[in-house]
Amino acid sequence: MGYIDEVIAQVIEKNPAQPEFHQAVKEVLESLRVVVEANEEVYKREALLERMVQPERQFVFRVPWVDDQGQVQVNTGMRVQFNGAIGPYKGGLRFHPSVNLGIIKFLGFEQTFKNSLTGLPMGGGKGGADFDPKGKSDREIMAFCQSFMTELSKYIGADTDVPAGDIGVGAREIGYLFGQYKRIASKYEGVLTGKGLSYGGSLVRTQATGYGLLYLTDELLKLNNISLAGKTVAVSGSGNVAIYATEKAIELGAKVVTASDSKGWIYDPEGIDLEVLKEIKEVKRERILEYTKYRPNAQYHEGKGVWSVKVDIALPCATQNELHLEDAKQLVSNGCIAVCEGANMPTTLEATKYLQENKVIFAPGKAANAGGVATSGLEMAQNSGRISWTAEEVDEKLKNIMINITHNISDAAERYGAKGNYVLGANIAGFEKVADAMLAQGVC
Ligand code: NDP
Repeated sequence: MGYIDEVIAQVIEKNPAQPEFHQAVKEVLESLRVVVEANEEVYKREALLERMVQPERQFVFRVPWVDDQGQVQVNTGMRVQFNGAIGPYKGGLRFHPSVNLGIIKFLGFEQTFKNSLTGLPMGGGKGGADFDPKGKSDREIMAFCQSFMTELSKYIGADTDVPAGDIGVGAREIGYLFGQYKRIASKYEGVLTGKGLSYGGSLVRTQATGYGLLYLTDELLKLNNISLAGKTVAVSGSGNVAIYATEKAIELGAKVVTASDSKGWIYDPEGIDLEVLKEIKEVKRERILEYTKYRPNAQYHEGKGVWSVKVDIALPCATQNELHLEDAKQLVSNGCIAVCEGANMPTTLEATKYLQENKVIFAPGKAANAGGVATSGLEMAQNSGRISWTAEEVDEKLKNIMINITHNISDAAERYGAKGNYVLGANIAGFEKVADAMLAQGVC
């Protein structure tokens, strides 16, 4: 059994009942085979992979709170500080009933490499609770956030561990969490990112993931001597990432013809009207179905189907596992030239392989949606320096980061004889920096 297979077997044995964590470790380590085999003696002696797959620290804690009926509720909170080799732990907090330690470990492991790719000094972490914010009153959300932070505050800090939002943790939750941290720690520091603009948040954070996706897509196409201007694009989703991906795609001269939500999707052959999309989703918070009322020439379809439209570029920006093998086949037969992931893990493994085999340019979310965490890193920098950059300054830095990521993943793939395999390139480029830092810092 080779070194990688030994480590994977150990992870499965030592972390029972954590299938998502097993899957993430397997996917990353298997794609690193070529790098690990080239350095096997050192990595094995230093137990580098064994250390990399084990969180440095993890906390699991009780979160008691009182609901609006006066009933005490108890949830489980957790924070995993996965890898701090290149900077303070950084990664979101997820509040969702499905949260368990295995899922948080999977996300924290992945986050380590994504953060490394940004080139900013951020280690990997993730946290959350099995709490469902849906249907709760503001007072209940505040009670939960205050109780959660009462415990979490012991383990985090601006130079230690800087959480952010994720599913179920938006601006409202970040505000309550920040307020409670400040009371307990008696410190005004950038301990969380995704903060409101009035108390230390960064301009462009809202747009960052969607804009970043397009900066990377544009650069990747340029590397392949293709121009984004004039191309037709399918975007899935109509949330934060999808809206700002659509905005930047239009700005760069492309035509976006689709949008979707969990109920259905629209096809607007004349190009999505961004103002209408924002009005429906950001202001009125309605279903995407309403779009046809504003734009009668657009078609609405129930269910899934965005990938059946003939486009040059596909940008999955909704959710995990939303682009399957059948969708990939349809995209290829329609002449699609690039798929870049705005969401986390939207493309299944079989679909990814099919796209790559058929020479479709494929950018994995780890690289393509890193603009969000990169801008969180820029928020940390502004907080530490007690300064605020203008929107233009943040946007320029974001653009440079995404362009650097594009070149780094492309160069890494090429160095290992796999030109154009950006999945491999992203895993290698993210891994190399963390591995170097860990080896340089000795046994710790
Ligand atoms: P939002 O909640 O703002 O939007 C998600 C969109 O996807 C909504 O339009 C939603 O529709 C749709 N959607 C959700 N589930 C499904 C489904 N099962 N089928 C079809 N559509 C669905 O999330 P974000 O835009 O913030 O995030 C989208 C993805 O990007 C996620 O994978 C997230 O982890 C990832 N991501 C986000 C970052 C960020 O900065 N926001 C950073 C990095 C990654 P509906 O409204 O009907 O639920």
